[in-house]
Amino acid sequence: MKINPEYRTKEALLTLYNKPLLELVFEAATIHRKFHNPNEVQMSSLLSIKTGGCPEDCGYCPQAARYQTDIDTHKLMNVDMVIEQAKNAKANGSSRLCMGAAWREVRDNRDFDKVVEMVQAVNNLDMEVCCTLGMLSEDQAKRLKNAGLFAYNHNLDSSKEFYGDVISTREYDDRLNTIDNARKAGLTVCSGGIIGMGEAVEDRVGLLLSYMEMETPPESIPINSLVAVEGTPLEEQKPIEQWEMIRMVATSRIAFPESVIRLSAGRTKMNMEAQALCFMAGASSIFAGDKLLTTPNPEYNEDMEMFRILGLTPKLAFQDGDKPVSNPDPINEKKKAEALAREKELMEAKKEAEGFEPRKIVTVK
Ligand code: SF4
Repeated sequence: MKINPEYRTKEALLTLYNKPLLELVFEAATIHRKFHNPNEVQMSSLLSIKTGGCPEDCGYCPQAARYQTDIDTHKLMNVDMVIEQAKNAKANGSSRLCMGAAWREVRDNRDFDKVVEMVQAVNNLDMEVCCTLGMLSEDQAKRLKNAGLFAYNHNLDSSKEFYGDVISTREYDDRLNTIDNARKAGLTVCSGGIIGMGEAVEDRVGLLLSYMEMETPPESIPINSLVAVEGTPLEEQKPIEQWEMIRMVATSRIAFPESVIRLSAGRTKMNMEAQALCFMAGASSIFAGDKLLTTPNPEYNEDMEMFRILGLTPKLAFQDGDKPVSNPDPINEKKKAEALAREKELMEAKKEAEGFEPRKIVTVK
């Protein structure tokens, strides 16, 4: 049951969201137990492989170049550095690595070639690999799929109606189009939203309605609460009540029984009791590590202590889908072959030059 047919309309979702809290949590927990192991929570790591300098204007995002925020920007990481970080994340219990680059869209350039290599390398470590790179075409999605990408993340953020209040540089339909391209390439989809941006409850369920209307809803739905960062247009937003996060998680769980609901940004504002209620209500993943791209996240040790107290165990990789095969990338292979041929030519030219007798200059007296 990919979607719960009882909640196909905005009205039904709204009634669900507004149910007495404990009833809502009970209903969500009942569904959660039918489709998931309630004692397993996946630890995922989010790695910013290219930080800052993004031309988009997402009002919540410190990585947008137009906002004055206090982040350490950097160009695309090299592949070895990513492998090292992935190994550390795995050693600390993460079974999924999400690599994020602050791009408007994927371009067919050397940076993308490198990302393809990163995907292959991390998939070879037996971790689920997810990428969030902005808009992408079907061909680019196919290239990532061929390299062994497990999921592509592209959030809708909020309802179609509220979206324009937060982002003006690309349309909701652009986002839907990217999700569609990922689907056509055979990737699983990770897509969710942020609450606490000043939206109404109708917008929160409006986000879920957008997923209800898809032919296949996302396999993974991250639920974030806004981390209001100084320098962004949403810096003054007041934090939401923890109950709102619990309601959103529970409503998402009931509406999409099979999807993985990820308790994502904003956990530093939640106490352990509230997080426990989220797990009970169907959240089965957290992001581990002290940073979520650029915003703070609970320390690794705090999470381990929470797992111990709640009796949770980290979920292993590929419980929700087979490990993708990493095939050689035809574009990178061709470029490597060309580079080798060029190097060979250069060597030969150098050898030839070494054996070459300099022309004797005959001076005429
Ligand atoms: S959310 Fe992504 S697309 Fe939007 S400004 Fe930040 S990095 Fe750019």
